[in-house]
Parts: sequence; C-alpha cells; structure tokens
Amino acid sequence: MSQLEGRRPDASSSELPVPPLAPLVDTHCHLGDRRFDEDRARVIERARLAGVIHVVIVADSAGESLRVRELARELDLSATAGVHPHVASTWNADTAAAIEAALADPCVVAVGETGLDYHYEHSPRADQKRAFEAQLALAAKHRKPVVVHSRDADQDMSAMLRGLGPGNPRIILHSFSSGPAVFETGLEIDAYFSFSGMITFKSWKRQDFIANCPPSRLLLETDAPYLAPVPFRGRRNEPAFLVETAKEVARILGVDPGTIAQRSTANAVECFGSRLTYQKGENR
Ligand SMILES: [Zn+2]
Repeated sequence: MSQLEGRRPDASSSELPVPPLAPLVDTHCHLGDRRFDEDRARVIERARLAGVIHVVIVADSAGESLRVRELARELDLSATAGVHPHVASTWNADTAAAIEAALADPCVVAVGETGLDYHYEHSPRADQKRAFEAQLALAAKHRKPVVVHSRDADQDMSAMLRGLGPGNPRIILHSFSSGPAVFETGLEIDAYFSFSGMITFKSWKRQDFIANCPPSRLLLETDAPYLAPVPFRGRRNEPAFLVETAKEVARILGVDPGTIAQRSTANAVECFGSRLTYQKGENR
C-alpha cells in the first residue's frame, strides 16, 4: 500500500467515484430506501470522502418517517417527517399525530416531502390538497421548513403557496422542475430552490431558473436513489454524486465549484438549522 492510500484507512481511493468538493449538504436523499440496505455504510463513507458533510434523509409516509428518524439518529444525520402526495389518501388523525410526534425530535429538521403530484395522481387531487395544507400548518406550528414536491400541478401549487400568510413556514421547492408560474411564486414567497441531478440532463432547458435563483435561496440535492446526474445517469444515485450537480450549477453561473459548495451549504444550514454543521468523525 502506498503512503497516499495509507492516509485513507476507511476506504480505498478507487471507491470514490468523483473528485471531492467540500463542503456539500445533500438536502434531499431517500437514504432509507431499500436499495441502500446492502451498502448504506459505504454509501455514507463515499459521501464523506466526496465532501458531503451532511444528508437530510427524506420520508414519504408516516411509517417511513419513523424509520428515517431512527436512521438519522443512528448515523448522526437529519431526517424529515411527512406524507408524499402519492399516498396523500392515507392522511388521517393517526398519521397527523405520528408526523407531529416526529417533529418534536431535534433530528427531524423539516416536514415533507409533501405537495401535489398531478402527473401520477396516485391519490385524488382533493386528498393531496388536504394533506398538503395540513402539513403546512404542522410545519408552521413547529417552526420547521417544508420540503415541497410539485409535479404537473403548477396552477394549484402557485395558488396554495401564494395563499400562505406571514408566519407561515419556509418552503423548499425540491428537485425544482416546475414552470415559470411556480418559479415566480417561489421568488415572491422567498422559497428555497433545490436543484437535483436533473439539471445535468440534456433535456434540462431551464438554465435561466438557476441563473435567476437568488444566491441565498440556492440548495442542492440528489433525490437519491433517483435522478443520478450525468455521468452516472441510469445508475442508482447516491450523495457522493452531488459533486456533479454542484459543478453544473457552477458552470451555468460561471463561478468556481467551491463557491457553489460554500454558498449552498451555508443556505442549507440557514434553512434547516445548525444541526447540519455537525460532521461525524470530524475531530479524529
Ligand atoms: Zn424525494
């Protein structure tokens, strides 16, 4: 073993798929997904080596909210609690109580993911709106931000977000891929825009959204295991690949990738709280 390899006792350098870029925060990752069951520890180690200092593990149902909270505790990461629009029909007094109980835990840093998905419409639109509204109210009550999923629902999403008054929670428009109406609304309500690997796809034509996103509202996410950025497209996504998305934002804005890493991480800490600055093993 060479001297250089000897400095990395946890993993060989060949395991790192990308050159590191630090500090990064993956603000949206489904690390509880069963596709990570086999090698979750190695995925986290690769993330750390790539410069990802923290991961927000996102829930999509009441059951998953419990699971990701345990995972976040175990791994010194953070979690969300919420019910995805796909399963909005499961929203009732019991699920509401489960989400609310999770929100009392300091490792649960946000509500979500919630919102509207009219593309698949797995739950009726009325149920989606009801569950979204209820989760916005819970977030306001617990003073935590809301991770919002929006697909093919621009008109209703804009209307619901515009309806938020003062004292309402901070909004994170996750894996932003909506149209101009939601973008404009997001600007008006001071929402965070979280960009995923989708911006590296050839089909992504909205570089203007990245250029016009206020620097203080820019976040980065993988949405892993989904949406792996180029050159990993088609593979299982993982937090280490966030480097590619940061590099693409930097390319579009004509700035150094390190600037984007610093800025998006500072924004993530501002949005989700100082828990995100804690880095496991940072003092060893
Ligand atoms: Zn997601």
